[in-house]
Amino acid sequence: MIYRIKLPWVLLTGLTLICGCSKPKDKISDTTAARPNIIFIMSDDHAYQAISCFGSKLIKTPNIDRIANEGIKFKNSFVTNSICAPSRAVLLTGKYSHKNGLRDNLDRFDNTQMTFPKLLQQAGYSTAIIGKWHLKSKPTGFDYWNVLIGQGNYYNPRMVATEDTVTHTGYTSDLITDFTIDYIEKRDTAKPFCVLYHHKAPHRNWMPKLEDLPEVLNKTYPLPQTFYDDYATRSAAREQDMHIEDMFLSQDMKLLPADYGQETGTGGKDGWQQRAESSWLAMLEQLTPEQRKIWDQYYDPIREDFRKQDLTGKALLEWMYQRYMQDYLGSVKAVDDNIGRLLDYLDDHNLSENTIVVYTSDQGFYLGEHGWYDKRFMYEESLRMPLVMRYPAAIKPGQVTDAMVLNLDFAPTLLDFVDVDIPSDMQGSSFRDIVLGKEPPGWRSSIYYHYYEYPHGWHNVKKHEGVRTDRYKLIRFYDDADEWELFDLSEDPNELNNLVGDPEYSQIKDELTTELMKLKGFYEVPHQEDKMESNL
Ligand code: CA
Repeated sequence: MIYRIKLPWVLLTGLTLICGCSKPKDKISDTTAARPNIIFIMSDDHAYQAISCFGSKLIKTPNIDRIANEGIKFKNSFVTNSICAPSRAVLLTGKYSHKNGLRDNLDRFDNTQMTFPKLLQQAGYSTAIIGKWHLKSKPTGFDYWNVLIGQGNYYNPRMVATEDTVTHTGYTSDLITDFTIDYIEKRDTAKPFCVLYHHKAPHRNWMPKLEDLPEVLNKTYPLPQTFYDDYATRSAAREQDMHIEDMFLSQDMKLLPADYGQETGTGGKDGWQQRAESSWLAMLEQLTPEQRKIWDQYYDPIREDFRKQDLTGKALLEWMYQRYMQDYLGSVKAVDDNIGRLLDYLDDHNLSENTIVVYTSDQGFYLGEHGWYDKRFMYEESLRMPLVMRYPAAIKPGQVTDAMVLNLDFAPTLLDFVDVDIPSDMQGSSFRDIVLGKEPPGWRSSIYYHYYEYPHGWHNVKKHEGVRTDRYKLIRFYDDADEWELFDLSEDPNELNNLVGDPEYSQIKDELTTELMKLKGFYEVPHQEDKMESNL
């Protein structure tokens, strides 16, 4: 039943957009006489649904929770373009994809442009990035880097460091943490430091740590409420290719060709089955004999069970969901454990008080909601970024904010915290005042989103853009589609009921369309990228 709705006039007509310009600011506290260090932790594809402080019933993440409990948790943190490399480019530049030039994972980052690490470096910081980089060009703005090649492997990764390229032995989440601690240990102590500590996990293809296998492979998980979504009112959602049934039996389910005969998943494109299978066999080959022995000890019984059951239809789909969850959440566990190790290191070395620690993921992810894995869509699960932040010298513990923040804001916020001028062409806004307990008047009341990776790339998610307020969301799929979707998040938090044709909501649709146009104007989204005006 649809109720008559009060329009959020204040939101839609009173939009105040905040520029990222420097402004007079309050002194944080006397304890910040020494400029803070920064540890920016970003994992890959870590859904807020898999973090206990965000209400997850799937897993406990005590160490990420610790950052929230000792600082601030953001209930409304969003990504501007929900895919790996573009999110990272927005983080570095504080600019939307159409401004920083990296719209999808096939683009190469222009590493000559200004980034917040470059500005920190110029301001006397020692800067580093360790772990996932994924921007194709060489890291710039860092005194030290030690980064995975492309997506990197879960085990025995080959990494490109400032001085050499080395294939390491071990579990990648552990190694990235080891290298981060080692960098902090050996840093130039005359300078404050900023390290981007970026996990590969829990990106596909989700390989847990050997020591965790006995625990993580024994669990079963409830199906999400929307697992059997029929996409009745959403044609773009129907046409995607990121359903759990599209997963590969090889690299995603960890089976071998002898178990299934012919690979069935499409995982994004027809004809990629062979590629997935070859890739998986190569990954297994890269394990050391000792690692492989333990791996097989735990996964061979799963393979045997699969062969015995001879599953089809819903039974097969639900088995695939359980397999996906076990490996995904197992990969998350190792990320959380390693964050605990880093936090303990800071405590043991008297670094906790004056270090800003941020935990986020490059975007959200589907854990079976709508029947999916992956990200891309502007729907809540992939639009949301988990975000918690701790800085004991200035941020009060136990805070929760519902202010809408974006990954666009990270660069200006961090610069603001260390008193470095924010370039006027950065499009984000510093949320420093929010974490200090006072949301600035006129803080944004709507966000703009734009996804580009289509028709090339994976998963067949059409190009789209949209606007979200605290209650409503309007999405427009364009290019080879012209589909609009409108959701009332307070009535329909799972976004199943597209209201775009509902006369009860026509005024809201008009208001949101106006808001979308305002945001596009403000962020200078090029007109040639869409035909919106002609479609109004
Ligand atoms: Ca990602």
